[in-house]
Amino acid sequence: MIDLHTHSNRSDGSDPPERIPELAHAVGCTAVALTDHDRLDGVQAARCRGGELGIELVGGCEVSCDTAYGTLHLLAYFVEEDGGPLHTALERLQQWRSERNARLAARLAQLGLPVTLEEMEAEAGGVGVGRPHVAAILVRKGVVSSIQEAFEEWLADGRPAHVERPRLGLVEAVRLVRASGGVPVVAHPLSLRLEPSRLDEAVQEMAEEGVAGLEAVYGRYPPAERAMLSALARRHDLVVTGGSDYHGTYKPDLQVGIGRGDLTVPAEVLSDLDARRPARA
Ligand code: AMP
Ligand code: ZN
Ligand code: FE
Ligand code: FE
Repeated sequence: MIDLHTHSNRSDGSDPPERIPELAHAVGCTAVALTDHDRLDGVQAARCRGGELGIELVGGCEVSCDTAYGTLHLLAYFVEEDGGPLHTALERLQQWRSERNARLAARLAQLGLPVTLEEMEAEAGGVGVGRPHVAAILVRKGVVSSIQEAFEEWLADGRPAHVERPRLGLVEAVRLVRASGGVPVVAHPLSLRLEPSRLDEAVQEMAEEGVAGLEAVYGRYPPAERAMLSALARRHDLVVTGGSDYHGTYKPDLQVGIGRGDLTVPAEVLSDLDARRPARA
């Protein structure tokens, strides 16, 4: 089995990159992807540790995109890691994220919430600051009782401490991923919150735009949703992919490889994705 969706402390996970292959190996995975938000700089350390353990480390990242249907998270696998068009765009996304974080800190101050930019950076370990870090500080200071509550009360889209940041459009993101030798996959598709018929339409459009897979077997989806999304993916000739979305202590219900205990993503998914790599120019 494999896990195609995990985060390290280079973004908003709590574990260092090297720990991801260790955890995956311990539960019996033969491959694991590291997919930090907007960055690839944990991949090398994780791959090196994976090599020692004899587990394949798939390089990747997760990028938030604008679509006609709302914000979508796009997973990118096998992309060039040291250069190339996606790498350049990721630097821009990191800049936008850091500008958002400064505005977010100002908003939190306005709201009287006790979280400074310095505390956010300390919580994140310096890089990859995101909303889960703010949520963890609010929990620690007793303002809310869980990360989930921090989102529901303050940080989720539409809540008082939500601060927008610019995103890539989906078409542009897909183009960048493919131009960097990568394979784009739609993460946790139910986050779009579309009615079944609209979701079908949206997925058809995404497939036409060059998306290669759909994350149907997602750590937090129950069996019926995984089955529905797997059928949807197959209808549109997309690879049925899966992963835990492990974030360590920031999503304490999820473990690498097994999610909440009922996740199994077969190893063949990785070869199916590999077969969708763009032809070399
Ligand atoms: P950011 O990239 O900083 O905007 O934050 C994105 C992170 O926040 C991802 O790890 C999401 O899983 C998490 N997140 C977004 N919305 C929610 C929510 N409503 N509840 C819990 N976590 C969320
Ligand atoms: Zn995250
Ligand atoms: Fe996501
Ligand atoms: Fe994720």
